[in-house]
Amino acid sequence: MCCSHSIEDRQIPAGQPESFDINAVKGMKFFDPHVHMTSRTTDDYQAMADAGVVALIEPAFWLGQPRTGVDSFKDYYSSLVGWERFRSSQFGIKHYCTIGLNSREANNEALAEQVMEILPLFVYKDGVVGVGEIGFDDQTPAEEKYYRAQLELAKQAGLPVQVHTPHRDKKKGTQRSMDIAIEHGLAPHMVIIDHNNEETVKEVLERGFWAAFTIYPFTKMGNKRMVEVTRQYGPERIMVNSAADWGISDPLAVPKTAALMKLSGISDEAINLVTYRNAVTAFAQSGQINEDDFAGVIDQSAKFEGNSILRGGQQPRIDKSSIIIS
Ligand SMILES: [Zn+2]
Repeated sequence: MCCSHSIEDRQIPAGQPESFDINAVKGMKFFDPHVHMTSRTTDDYQAMADAGVVALIEPAFWLGQPRTGVDSFKDYYSSLVGWERFRSSQFGIKHYCTIGLNSREANNEALAEQVMEILPLFVYKDGVVGVGEIGFDDQTPAEEKYYRAQLELAKQAGLPVQVHTPHRDKKKGTQRSMDIAIEHGLAPHMVIIDHNNEETVKEVLERGFWAAFTIYPFTKMGNKRMVEVTRQYGPERIMVNSAADWGISDPLAVPKTAALMKLSGISDEAINLVTYRNAVTAFAQSGQINEDDFAGVIDQSAKFEGNSILRGGQQPRIDKSSIIIS
């Protein structure tokens, strides 16, 4: 490996692997604009809060298996604006969501029609900061049909759009997503193109859209690559998210990427833009985000519709470093 030029070779001081940790960004605050907390545990919430995540957006997505009826969507959307938001508040993290029919499920047209009917009941609710995550998966005609229909809904509601771009044939799928959004009269500043990589970022930025990057192990972006992208394109209109979900993923991807950027010599100002400020600016166009709400007061014995996160008379968790479980 004598001729490789990895980030470690260039920027991390030799012989100091122990300094390579999340403490490099202690005291900074983060906004994760794409994370599926419904699939995560309270330990994840605690770790995110400890690492400086003060607010997040949970986009509506699929369960990992097909839904059997519209009621499943109804309950899911209700939990995103209800119970999950409450659960997040119990760790001092402000929870927002985007509501939409995801591309994969758009292919069940009979069900998709019913979902389109209930979407307007949810997109106008408090704390809904966009229509998402929508777009292309396999780039089928049904996916296009419901992407277009939901762009119209976003336009009507005056909400930003959070666009999922496909894993396969990403470049073409990303271009189509942008072309179609423009066709429907959405301004590029109202559209957040997600899951970018080195192949798509240039065009997305040049056309005036927001470019989101998902730091997700093995499949999407690694954060060393993210450092290089930020170096190359600068921090304007770029944002980083974890997209942590029920798969092998990392809910600390945003603060970890910030730490890597810091240790790689990226300025605090640029780090703040890509791990906090740009996401706030983009999604605040919904009129739903007030940064004063980020400093949540935590009361773990609080209740949501009569239920608390404490099961069967548990006490609020105080000392998580103790090995005693009482
Ligand atoms: Zn997602």
